[in-house]
Amino acid sequence: MPVTPLRRQYLQIKKQYPNVIVFFRLGDFYETFDEDARITARELEITLTAREMGKGKRVPLAGIPYHAVNNYLGKLINKGYKVAICEQMSPPGKGLVEREVVRVVTPGTVLETGILNEKSNNYLASLVRDGTQVGLAYIDVTTGEFAATQIEDYEVANELERIQPAELLLPEAFNAGKPGLPKAISKLDDYYFDHEIASQVLIEHFGVLSLDAYGCANLPLAVRAAGAVLYYVRENQKTVIGQINHLSTYTTKAFMTLDIQTRRNLEIYTSSRWGVSAGSLLAVLDHTRTAMGGRLLKRWVGQPLLNVDNLIERQNAVQWLYDNTMARQTIISVLHDVSDLERIINRINTGIALPRELIALKRSLECIPQVLSILDEYQAYEKLKGDLKPCPDVVMLVQSAIADDPGNNLSQGNVIKSGFSEELDSIKQAAYNARNYIANLEQQEKERTGIKSLKVGYNRVFGYYIEVSKSNLGMVPDVYIRKQTLVNAERYITSELKEYESLILNAQEKIQEIESGLFKQVCSQIAQMTDDIMRSAQALAELDVFSSFADVAVNYTYKRPVLNNGNTITIKGGRHPVVENSMGRDQFIANDTYLCNDDDQLIILTGPNMSGKSTYLRQVALIVLLAQIGSFIPADSATIGIVDRIFTRIGAQEDLATGQSTFMVEMVETANILNNATPKSLIILDEVGRGTSTYDGLSIAWAVVEFIHNNPGLRSKTLFATHYHELIKVADILPRVRNFNIAVTESKGTVVFLRKVVPGGADKSYGIHVAQLAGLPSSVLHRATEVLGGLESHQLHNRQEGDIHSGLPVQQLPLFNTHAELVKEIKQADVDSMSPLEAITKLYELKKKAEEQDNI
Ligand code: ADP
Repeated sequence: MPVTPLRRQYLQIKKQYPNVIVFFRLGDFYETFDEDARITARELEITLTAREMGKGKRVPLAGIPYHAVNNYLGKLINKGYKVAICEQMSPPGKGLVEREVVRVVTPGTVLETGILNEKSNNYLASLVRDGTQVGLAYIDVTTGEFAATQIEDYEVANELERIQPAELLLPEAFNAGKPGLPKAISKLDDYYFDHEIASQVLIEHFGVLSLDAYGCANLPLAVRAAGAVLYYVRENQKTVIGQINHLSTYTTKAFMTLDIQTRRNLEIYTSSRWGVSAGSLLAVLDHTRTAMGGRLLKRWVGQPLLNVDNLIERQNAVQWLYDNTMARQTIISVLHDVSDLERIINRINTGIALPRELIALKRSLECIPQVLSILDEYQAYEKLKGDLKPCPDVVMLVQSAIADDPGNNLSQGNVIKSGFSEELDSIKQAAYNARNYIANLEQQEKERTGIKSLKVGYNRVFGYYIEVSKSNLGMVPDVYIRKQTLVNAERYITSELKEYESLILNAQEKIQEIESGLFKQVCSQIAQMTDDIMRSAQALAELDVFSSFADVAVNYTYKRPVLNNGNTITIKGGRHPVVENSMGRDQFIANDTYLCNDDDQLIILTGPNMSGKSTYLRQVALIVLLAQIGSFIPADSATIGIVDRIFTRIGAQEDLATGQSTFMVEMVETANILNNATPKSLIILDEVGRGTSTYDGLSIAWAVVEFIHNNPGLRSKTLFATHYHELIKVADILPRVRNFNIAVTESKGTVVFLRKVVPGGADKSYGIHVAQLAGLPSSVLHRATEVLGGLESHQLHNRQEGDIHSGLPVQQLPLFNTHAELVKEIKQADVDSMSPLEAITKLYELKKKAEEQDNI
């Protein structure tokens, strides 16, 4: 026999899961073998050993304890691996134990709470392309959310950025060369995406005759993507499939488009400097109390609405909570006790819920009548009220069945409450009596035999025994049966003692068996109420987000904006939500904004570096965004005509990863804006043209302003910040361009920022003053002032008719750059020690300096 039956069994299972690490249950361990063991040992930093599995055949082995599986599983999944969980399906002892893979855990199908971020969804997405159209679908198996859409190819990156899938499914031939895709990509056979198969999978799953009800009958690519993702879940996590009971087809047209740059530039989810959520819009805005509310808020922030009526409905809900302080505070405190119902009910359906989660479910459901009574009292929220189901039967079931403070898992016992099952109670009672008997036995036997030193003890090999010291052996009664001889004593058993002992031991096993049977039964009864619990969960999530908006509005003095479909944006006393939050409300200087397609369409904002231009630009964009998710806004008042898309081009970010120069990135983004903006869009341009030489940059900036202003397809509301203060001249030529600047004054030779946006263009750049603030040595500053003076007079002399526009460029000239200095710099370059990247960067730098020199 070359290999053991166990090995053969393992190999057979492994054959079905070739690209997946198989966790093979062996008693209290999950073992991995062969290459899986090598990977597991390396990635989890555990010992790689070997096990004999056939004559002279040792195979690599790495094992992890069964009770710690979550932790280890999480690490592997986060590194992008997939893991098949292979369980023992028959009790040990009777030949080879049967084993079966019960689920395959992949990054997109994780259920383990420890691995998931509670305030984020964990999406599994799929894509399929046909020409320029793409089908996109995604599922969160932990909450049952399932959505699909059909979009243009160029929209895919934005949607993926919004969804942030943990795992992406693609057809074999899908060319996924683009950056920004998730770490875990699973290529699937084309048949997963076949239209007929996909439709069939969906139709069968939902038990319907056609897909009309889901709004995707005419969206073949959406159907193909949705079918594929469901097929994949069915294969890998069959237990969760029952939870997915609705497919919502959506169109990106219903939402404001926020492209990747805009999400990043506005720091919606993470602050760009640290890449963490602190310092982001979401961090300021998230006062939600539940995990479900947190996830919903994140979704809303990513999908601002375009429909005024829907927004007003949200605003009314917020207003009600804003006005009724008592109601708001009570609801917020009640929501504190609400657990993650979506994920708990999912885990109950999947059969992996823990006893404590049932208690959490009960506590959460008990909150619903309290919420309902508050809503009743204040007469609000008809819609939400209808969705809030207290599920009293579930509450009663858990109340009567599950112990108030149950053990962590089923094997620890103490899960089922006494009084719930007669059978269980009588076994527990018998076991209790038996333990009592043994506890009293020592005293009883001492009295019966008169042996004072008699002891009752327990050891693993012989079980319970009665111990009598050698000197008292004569007093031992006949019924004692000798079991073990020690140096100074003899140990005995009695038939009665053995009876009680086996009662205790069997009872433990039996109690566990009955408890887990009853627990399963309770779970399956609760699972029947899944729909009601899910609806309540969603209603609570909405209530949580509305309360969060109201709470933020009260705490940070946000006001309700007026929304309409008009073509103006008027903001009085607007503030930047994040900057204000970090520096304190009283430190932040509020500013007004007026933008209108008919007159003040395009604002050119000038002002020195550090004066607050970027902050102002972003503040306008963020206020519009907040208004369009239904939140109140950081302003005294505002009227906002709905915006279909916010475009941003901010700062000069080096994109070395894609090999594009700063300037190239800048121009690609600007081109995107000019090609896609509409009259309903809001465009934020910060320092466009900075990545190239002064004249090039200024000329491009000038032309971009003209294009946005003159092109009838655009005419978008635009804020354009620039330090080229020559650009203010454009307002003299174009009727809907207005100049504003951020006021500064000089005091004792230093610049003082007033942070106030005032009409008119800035007349000076104050660049050298800012350099002074930054701590540049005074000799450098002195020299800079000299050079600037020289350059300005040089400029005046040379200004000629041939300039791009009369009276155009001056300023922002390099502070040094003579031929001699360039040559010196080339000579000094230590080419041998440079990396190719450093060399090319240096070359760019030199070229730029040479070009700037031409411009002097
Ligand atoms: P710029 O874009 O002109 O270089 P920023 O917008 O980056 O300037 O602003 C620089 C700093 O000034 C910000 O980090 C913030 O601390 C402060 N600031 C900007 N606007 C305001 C304001 N309205 N009130 C108070 N401080 C502000």
